[in-house]
This record gives sequence, structure tokens and C-alpha cells, in this order.
Amino acid sequence: MRDKILSLFLILFLTGCSSLGTYNAATGRSELIFIPTSEEVTMGRDVHGNIIRQYELSSQTEKIERIEKIGQRLAQISDRQDYQYHFYLIEKEEMNAFTTPGGNIYLNTGLVDKLKTDDQIAAVVAHEIGHCAARHTIKKFQAALGYNLIGNIIINQVEMGDQVKGMASLGSNALMTLVFSSYGRKDEYEADRLGVKYMQLAGYDLQAMVETLTILKKESKGAKTPLILRSHPYLDDRVQAVKEMIAQTNKQRDIL
Ligand SMILES: [Zn+2]
Repeated sequence: MRDKILSLFLILFLTGCSSLGTYNAATGRSELIFIPTSEEVTMGRDVHGNIIRQYELSSQTEKIERIEKIGQRLAQISDRQDYQYHFYLIEKEEMNAFTTPGGNIYLNTGLVDKLKTDDQIAAVVAHEIGHCAARHTIKKFQAALGYNLIGNIIINQVEMGDQVKGMASLGSNALMTLVFSSYGRKDEYEADRLGVKYMQLAGYDLQAMVETLTILKKESKGAKTPLILRSHPYLDDRVQAVKEMIAQTNKQRDIL
């Protein structure tokens, strides 16, 4: 096994895999992303097909336009600009927001209706764009594809397109479970940090990030934990961290 891994890394070196250790401006780290953006976008389209088969996209024009406007304002200043961001409103009472590969961001009406201001909606959207920019979403999918399959691409020169088809073969239930699966604590903090950054750059009120998390916290006191908190956990710690991030951002702004 160890030999296999070693030879995989050796091959990666020899083939000079272009995606090896790509620098990501959002995270400030070099990251091992095997799935090129073009394939990620294709994957996102497949996932979207599944979503619209299972859920009803909203036809409430005013709300859709509001989210689109907020979304594009934030997308413009995202660290990740190699694909187009798309924003969708799902007609569903459950409070949720999630991101799929290819820059697709979904908000449920149940969540949007609980938020009062554009800044509060921006807080949710900016956090989700943070997941996109930090490539958390594609990394989650990449991990599900399995490193054996990734190894196949390199050793047997299997086309990446075939791997995306492999993704489709996961079946729609497994695919949706993956869509709604939670990110790790580090990813959540990072998405919050990027969310605060993008809100500031786009000129939104940073305090709205705290307000939104507080609204979610209030909602979570009932019998049922909203889906958004199952997929975006660690709320108490995040509120504290976000407050510190905002204080830090304001301090830097005062210095400049
Ligand atoms: Zn998140």
C-alpha cells in the first residue's frame, strides 16, 4: 500500500500534474486539487439536475432578484473567479443554504424569510462563497471520488470526464447525502473568515454576520435542529470567532 502511495506521488511529480499544489488565494495555501474547473462545472450541472428533480425552485421573482443582486455583488470580489457563480432559491420551509461544485449556491425560502435585511442575506451568501473560494466543496466531492480513482487517472491516463461519470454512478441518494454533508470545523471557520472579508469588500454591514448566526441559534432552540445547523455546525464557537474577526477587520480599517 505504502509503495503504491509512494509511486503515485512519484508519478505526480514526473507528470508535473498541473493541479498539484495549486496556490489558493482564498486560503493562502497550496492545495492538491485533481478536478479541473471545467470538470467541476460539469459535475455541478449534474448535481443541479438532481436537485431540481427533488426540489422545487421558487418562482417568487422579487426574492430571486434580491438574492441574485446580493450574490453577484459578493461573487465579484470572491478570491475564486475561474467559474460563474449561480444563485438558486428553493421553495422549502426548512432553513438551509448549501453549495455544490461549480459555484452553485442554493438558499431555501425558509431561511431567507427568517432574515430581515440584505446584509443578513449577504452574510449567508458570503459564507457559502467562502466555501467555493476555499474549494471546500470540490474537496468534499474529490474525497468521495476516492483516491484510488484519482490514482487511476494518473496511472492509466483515464480521462477526467470518466471520473465525473463515476460521480454520477454514485446514485442520486448518495450524491444528495454528499451535498448536505457537513464540512469540518476548520472549513466552517474559514468560510466565516472569508465571508466577513467578502462582506467588507462588497460594503455590507459586518455585524449582520453575527445577527444571522444569532437568528439561527434562536431557531435551533426548538425541538428540531434546522438542517443548516446540521450541515453548518459549531454555532456558539463560530459566533465568538466571527465577533473577533469583525473586531480585527475594524481595527485594520482604522489603521489604514
Ligand atoms: Zn458552512
